[in-house]
Amino acid sequence: MPDLNLILLGPPGSGKGTQGERLQEDLELPYYATGDILRGAVKEQTDVGLKAKGYMDRGDLVPDEVLIGIIAGRLESGEADHGFILDGFPRTVPQAEALDTKLHELGRSLTAVVLIDSSDEAIINRLSGRRVCVDGDHVYHLDFNPPKTEGICDIDGSELIVRDDDKKEVVVHRLEQYHEKTAPLINLYKKQGLLNRIEGTETPDVVGESIRTLVSTLSLEEGS
Ligand SMILES: [Zn+2]
Repeated sequence: MPDLNLILLGPPGSGKGTQGERLQEDLELPYYATGDILRGAVKEQTDVGLKAKGYMDRGDLVPDEVLIGIIAGRLESGEADHGFILDGFPRTVPQAEALDTKLHELGRSLTAVVLIDSSDEAIINRLSGRRVCVDGDHVYHLDFNPPKTEGICDIDGSELIVRDDDKKEVVVHRLEQYHEKTAPLINLYKKQGLLNRIEGTETPDVVGESIRTLVSTLSLEEGS
């Protein structure tokens, strides 16, 4: 079996996390969501976490070298030898170039980039309704997945809050950053023949099915 090296691309809040977790289960490949990795590092107050926190709270992008270091470490560890799913990286052209260089060093290359696309308006609606619990990272949505009791986590009874980077002004700023720094990757990967666009405003099940179909096509092509 050839390795399956995938990137999930798309604006913040387009559902990459949900789809990444599903893909991880389907494909049994490591899923590297840099947002989760960084939030974990912030919680544990590691060096990387302390460096990253200020940027994240403002909705700014964490510097390239911090993220490149994290991902290069995972790729060298051996755990991603059969493939990987990247979410949140690369997020800038320099990061994409660094990833390319690293994969080349390892004698590998990208299989495909999956763009989960969504309008700014749909994203602002989705993210401003999101609530997370302070203890368990359980995620709710006021419209799509409300808790049984307002403001309280169904699972562990802890308080539900708006994550700093989901606050509306921060979301708007994240979208600006996306259009300025991440959207150029769409053209870059299109030119390389790697880009596959999926409509992200559909329900998670419909989006998931589109991705599953795409990935099975890729696996067949890679195997032939
Ligand atoms: Zn909870």
